[in-house]
Formats: sequence, C-alpha cells, structure tokens
Amino acid sequence: MAQITLQQFAKYAEAELHGNSEATIERIVFDSRKLLLTDGALFIAVKGANHDGHSYISNLYSRGVRAFLVEKGFDYSGFTEAGFIIVDNSVQALHKVVSQMRKGFHFPVVGITGSNGKTIVKEWAARILDKKLKVGRSPRSYNSQLGVPLSVFMLEDDCDVALIEAGISLPGEMDVLQRIIDPQIGIITNIGQAHQENFQSIQHKLEEKLKLFKNSEYLLFNIDDEVIHKGVQEELPAVKTLTYGSSADASLQILHQSEDASGKIIKVSFKEKEFDLTIPFNDEASVENVLVSVLLAMHLYINVKQVKEAVKALQPVAMRLEQKEGINNCILIDDAYNSDLTSLELALDFLDQLGAKKGLSKTLILSDIYQSGMDSDEWFGQIQRLIELKGIGRFIGIGPELYKAMGGVNAYHATEEFLNSVHINSFRDEAILLKGSRSFSFEHISSFLEQRRHKTILEIDLNALMQNVQTFRSMLTPGVKMLAMVKAFSYGSGSFEIANVLQRQKVDYLGVAFADEGIELREAGINLPIIVMNPELSSFPLMLQYDLEPEIYSFHLLESFLDAAERQGNQNVSVHIKIDSGMNRMGFLPDEMDKLITRLNQTSLLKVSTVFSHLAGSDEDVHDDFTRQQGQVFNDCCAKLKNGLGYNFIRHILNSAGIERFPEMQMEMVRLGIGMYGVSSNNQELKNVATLKSYVSQLKQVKKSETIGYGRKGVAIEDKTIAIVPVGYADGLNRLLSNGVGNLIINHQKAPIIGNICMDMCMADVTNLKVSEGDEVEIFGEENTIEEMAQKLETIPYEILTSISRRVKRVYFLE
Ligand SMILES: *Cc1c(COP(=O)(O)O)cnc(C)c1O
Repeated sequence: MAQITLQQFAKYAEAELHGNSEATIERIVFDSRKLLLTDGALFIAVKGANHDGHSYISNLYSRGVRAFLVEKGFDYSGFTEAGFIIVDNSVQALHKVVSQMRKGFHFPVVGITGSNGKTIVKEWAARILDKKLKVGRSPRSYNSQLGVPLSVFMLEDDCDVALIEAGISLPGEMDVLQRIIDPQIGIITNIGQAHQENFQSIQHKLEEKLKLFKNSEYLLFNIDDEVIHKGVQEELPAVKTLTYGSSADASLQILHQSEDASGKIIKVSFKEKEFDLTIPFNDEASVENVLVSVLLAMHLYINVKQVKEAVKALQPVAMRLEQKEGINNCILIDDAYNSDLTSLELALDFLDQLGAKKGLSKTLILSDIYQSGMDSDEWFGQIQRLIELKGIGRFIGIGPELYKAMGGVNAYHATEEFLNSVHINSFRDEAILLKGSRSFSFEHISSFLEQRRHKTILEIDLNALMQNVQTFRSMLTPGVKMLAMVKAFSYGSGSFEIANVLQRQKVDYLGVAFADEGIELREAGINLPIIVMNPELSSFPLMLQYDLEPEIYSFHLLESFLDAAERQGNQNVSVHIKIDSGMNRMGFLPDEMDKLITRLNQTSLLKVSTVFSHLAGSDEDVHDDFTRQQGQVFNDCCAKLKNGLGYNFIRHILNSAGIERFPEMQMEMVRLGIGMYGVSSNNQELKNVATLKSYVSQLKQVKKSETIGYGRKGVAIEDKTIAIVPVGYADGLNRLLSNGVGNLIINHQKAPIIGNICMDMCMADVTNLKVSEGDEVEIFGEENTIEEMAQKLETIPYEILTSISRRVKRVYFLE
C-alpha cells in the first residue's frame, strides 16, 4: 500500500498545511459514506453540482479522521487534532500530488484506453504478466478523473509493471490523465460510439484518446483497424508501434484461426517465432483483447510457454457484482472479482446498502486474500474492523489463513469442507456477500445457496440501458428535457431498478401507465416528477398524496381531478394536458381548446406543466406526412393554450422512433420508451438490454420416426438429439414459435424449437450441435434479437418484452 506523509502530500500539492502535521496517508476518500477505516485516511472535500464534501468534515472528524484536504474558505479552527491542507481546487491538487508520486516510480507504467474492453485487457494482461512479474493495476474500472489518481496512488513501490486504465467522456480530460499516468507503454483497445455525444466525430474522439500516449515509447493496437492505424500515424509519428492483426506488417501476426470445443485456436507469429494460442472464448472482441494482452506479454519478455498456459486458463472478467435470489429469502451478492482489500470495501458497501434496503441481516463469506505487502495479522485486523463497521452479523472464513486467525470458529480450511458441514437451512433472511479468490471456487457456494426452483431468468443489463439513454440524449438539442417511460413494469424489465438508474442518469421525468406503478416507485425512494398516463378517478387522492402528476385528457377527468384537489386542499398541482392530434385515442380535440382555456382559467388549483400529444406512425416513412401534420395540429393547439393561459409550459410529442426520425420536432421535451430498452426503428446502434435465459435441463436421443411432445407435432425424420429447456408459454414464450418457427441459441448455435411449446418447457433440436446438459440457453437477447422474434410472430418488440411473465426472475447487472 502506498504511504506518504501529510507533509509530503502538502509539498507536492504546493499548498499550506495547518494544524497537526503528523499523519501518514494510506488511503484517500472522497465519499464519506464509503469511509470504513479511518486510520491513515485523507478525506478530500470535493464540491460537486449537488453536494459539497466540506459539509461532511465535522462528522468525519468525530469518527476519527485526522487528515483533510479542503478548499480555501473552509473554517477548520474547531478541529484542533487534525491536519488541513488548504488548496484552491481539491481535485486539481490531488492530480498534482499524484503526478509527483508518479515521477518516483522506477517501473514501467502501461496506460490502457479505448471505447470497450479496457478493464478486460487490464485484467487479462495482468493474469499473463503475473506468471513472471509483480503487477500493479487499477482496481475494477477505476478509470475516471477521480479513479485514475486513486489507482496511481494505490500502486505499491515494488511493482515490476503497472497497468492503469483511462476513460474519458469529455474533450480535455485526457490531458489531465496523461500527466498522472504518463505511460511508457500504451494500449488502445478500439474506438466506438461510447460517449460520442461530447465529441464531433470518431476521429475527434480518437485524437483525444491518443493524447494519453504523447510521451510514450511504445503503443500497442490492432493494425487491421484502419481508423486507429491512420490516427496513430498522424497524431503520434514519433511513437514506436507494436501491432497485432492479420496484416503481414503486424508485430504479432495472426497466421491461421480455427475453432474446436475448447475455443479458438490461433496460430500467430512474433519475431519469427510461431506458436498456437488456445483462447477459451469464441467472440471476436475477446480474441482481440487476448491478442493485445499477449503482445504486451511478449514485449515484456514473458516466455511463450507461460503465455500459452496463462491464455488457456483465462476466465471471463467478473466486473460486476452479480445479484441473485437465494434460498429462504436470502439475497446473494456474487463478487468473483479478484479479492483484495479495496474491492472488499466496495463490495461491503454494496452489501450494507442492499441489506438495509431489504431489511435483511448481513453475512460475509470470505476466502483468504492474497494481498502482497501486508502480513496476515495485519490484513485480518483490517477485515475485522471492516466487519464491525459495516455491521456484518455473520462472518464465515474459508482458507487456511482465516481458519488460523479465527481459531476455527465459523471457519473452514476449504470450500468443500464448508459445503459438507453447513446445512442449507441455516441461511435465512440474509443478504450474503460471497467474496472469494478464484482458486477457492466460490461458484460452488453460489449454486448451493441459489434459489433453484425455476432457472429461467430475464437478465437486465443496466449499463446497456444507461448507454442507450446516452445515445438518445446525444440526439437532442442541448436543453431539451427527457421523460423516460417506465410504464408496464418498465416494458417488462422491472420498475424500481430501472427507475433508480434513470434517476441517476438525471432524466427529467418518469412516465407510468397507472397510479399504483407510480406509488411503487415513490415507496422505493424515487423522487423524480412522475406523470401518470392513465389516471383512474379512484386513485386521485393517493396520487395527490404521493405527488404523482396526472395526464388530463378529457373534461370529465379534469372536473374529477379538480374535485379531488379541492377536497385535499392542494393548490397549484402540476398537470399534463394531452392533445389528440390525430391518433384518435385519448386527448382533447383541437376544437376544444377554447373551452379548456376557459375552464383552466377559472381555477387556481391546477398548473399546466406540460402539454403533449402522441404520434400514430412515427416509425414508418409512409406516414411521415401525417406525422408532420400531427406536429402542426399540436403546435397550433399549444399556441392557443399559451395565449389563453398566459404562461409557458413544456411541449412534447416525440416517442423513441420520433426522436430518431424527427429531430425538428423535439420542442422542450421528448418521451423515450422502447429505445432505451434497446429497440431502434432506425438501425441506431443500441445495446441489447434484456436477455431471456434458461438452461438445458435434459438431453434426449430420439429414434427416427418417433414424435416429440403434445399432439405428436414434432417428428424425428432421422435419429435426433433433443434438448429440453424449462421455459414455456406460461413464461411468455409465445406458442406460435412452436414447430421450427422459433429458435433457441445454445453455445452460439441455432437450435430450432421442435414440437409444440408446453406450458413450462419446450424442446429444441440440437442434433449435431455442441450441447451438454446444464448449458445456458438464450431465448432472446444479443444473438436471437427481439426484433427477429417479433417479425416471426407478426407482432412488435413491445409485445415480446411485456409478455414475459412475472414469475420469471429479473436479474440485474450493473458494473
Ligand atoms: C409508451 C409511450 C411512449 C413511449 O413510446 P416508445 O415508442 O416506446 O418510445 C411515449 N408517449 C406515450 C404517451 C406513451 O404512452
């Protein structure tokens, strides 16, 4: 662990130090809630848009923190035992200090940037380099303006090499990161659409990213990527390049590729040496990530045998805390990320929040941690304090070190011993964090504790959802607001979880269909304005109580709502006026504007916050004239209303397809729905959000001319292998996909559904495919797209998404 005295810190920051100057700094903290260990902590007070770190200082002082970095103007006179470094801007001061610390490193630093794969390349490269070198690296995906300085600060002095990732979302940020990382060796993984909204073009973004390498000696990249290749030649003529790819000029050249059951076999050559790599993944992106890691390893003189061994043993990088339902109302948090104290702190923090939210007691199952630079007494002491501070009720240790430290109480030598000794029903109403180094195979504990009744899940990728929101945001004129539609259980994806992410993404409004959906969100702590699109008359009192704003679409509804507001004594309640501009569904008609104005002007109970209309055919160009006409009708109504009411309101008409296709109609707000769930009407590059998954519960050999399933509809025209998958029409798998209309995807192979789909299961023809019992099955998702499935069923993606039964567990991922 890095150590620096407070005095040295102040000197590097070129700042004054007041008060107690004795402290030694071992850790840096920005977020007071995340602070667990106060010894050796320096709190850096950062002023953000919504909060000011300075306001937490007195609380932190009372908890024992004795070192602070604060901005000028803060009155520290009452905190007599602490040391204060006073600066103009605390983030900039930290950057300065860390750049100075960086200058003292005597090992090479590798900087990794690119649009995707940074963390994976960092982890995989570390795994390969580990064979020979002591590798320091940034934890998880600490790659931001705060994450990078923290990563560099945490590096230990005795590394042989350090891998640091850098991510940017705005022009100018890379210059700052360059000064901190100052990599001798650079890696650019690829360049794509992520964070595109703040850059003029891909080239512009690439130029920014390449700034990280302006003083580097070597840069590693994919020579087959022409944009990057050209960009590097233009921007960094002096940097030596090390490349991989099929081109004969590549330093690590791909000579031949084939595939077998264990993955991809790639024949490569490096400096005239030819060798085969067995890569345990089939997808293109993983292969690229492996190759660039291998190239780095070869450059750093790891021998071929060790490289090959390490590559073969690579595992997917678990970057996310996976949350699953466990037995007896337990929740499992599966954190397979390499265990170290920092990642333990982060995971405990997550456990703490989740336990509190769900009212569950907190349990930690931990394996021995191999963290260098600390003896076992020292790390056990730290773990004990973390456990105490986070109120962990039950702590189970696995591994010889923990067994010794815990005197054998609640401790086991190995995972297997634990599984053989505990009874599953001893776990109940607990939030359980599983945190194990890879060698302890905690996945066995996870499957032991997991709820197993029904293994079909709908997996929701919250990161993908956020990226889709960003993609749509980038289509908006600055200042245009965004309402996110979370009606119908967020198009089937879950309500609170989605709304929570949207709230953090700072959307302006949420839209739900019925009042009870809105109440559920309020009770879960969502405080964004919420519009209820179909308010029922009976729900008005509750809506007022929960601060839910109604769509008002008729005079009848208006009168009832006025009654309710009057009875509850509310004033100035926000309402949203719906205009029917041609869809012939709900809404006031254009010729009702005068009457509406008159009525609204008679009351001070309501305030019109927004006025909106809905498009009938925004996704199809045959209707484009009609769409524009709807826009015109709507505009005329709004003009009349504004004139009659005498005040301004927000106007909105565009849904997802409208945002993609009619930028000129954005007005003051847009309403994003299906687009954020990953469905585009315009071939926008959106991320897949929802994946319906199951598994092969049984394989069966069926002889020629036998039949499969109900009604004997599936006929084996030859000897066949059939996979049985526990997902049926009661889960939302439409029965019209029976008899070969639909496919399942198993290990990236298409398996046609054979016979009729049953209530709780279906059968697929896997003859001659590579499939084993227990294999994962994708019903829809990245490979079997919702759009394709909708086409086969002659319906729309909306129906597919919202038809997934509530009995299918939703499992959320967030990096
Ligand atoms: C559902 C809905 C939307 C969102 O539509 P998408 O096509 O999913 O983007 C927008 N406005 C209203 C009134 C809606 O009911």
